[in-house]
Amino acid sequence: MLYCPKCFGNHLKLAPRGVVHISINNKHMQSSQFLFNTVKDDEKVIANNIREKFDEFMNWYSSFQNKDPIKDVQLSSSDFVCENGCKVSISSRYNIINILISQEIVMKILNEVAYSYNIRVEVDPSKNF
Ligand SMILES: [Zn+2]
Repeated sequence: MLYCPKCFGNHLKLAPRGVVHISINNKHMQSSQFLFNTVKDDEKVIANNIREKFDEFMNWYSSFQNKDPIKDVQLSSSDFVCENGCKVSISSRYNIINILISQEIVMKILNEVAYSYNIRVEVDPSKNF
């Protein structure tokens, strides 16, 4: 559970359905988001969605003149609910790594997709997640 800024306790949990937003090196494509539904999607479906979005991003990013190595990856969502019923602001986004999907899988997909576009990955998982 995450910290709720309204009731000041660790009462925020991910909603069963929502949208995940992806940003890489603080860049965000309009299409870098996907829907999740934990009622029907297993981790494999979520992993496939992430792979597809990473692929779209790397395809775009690989056309840049100056390609910095990938240092920062954010997967976040506003679709959290507070157990105490607080209204969660839609402008607040919370990290979903290790909540919706494990960091290990996200890093594995990131490394594989970046490698296929010849883009270096220098994410420090201890700082990034
Ligand atoms: Zn709350």
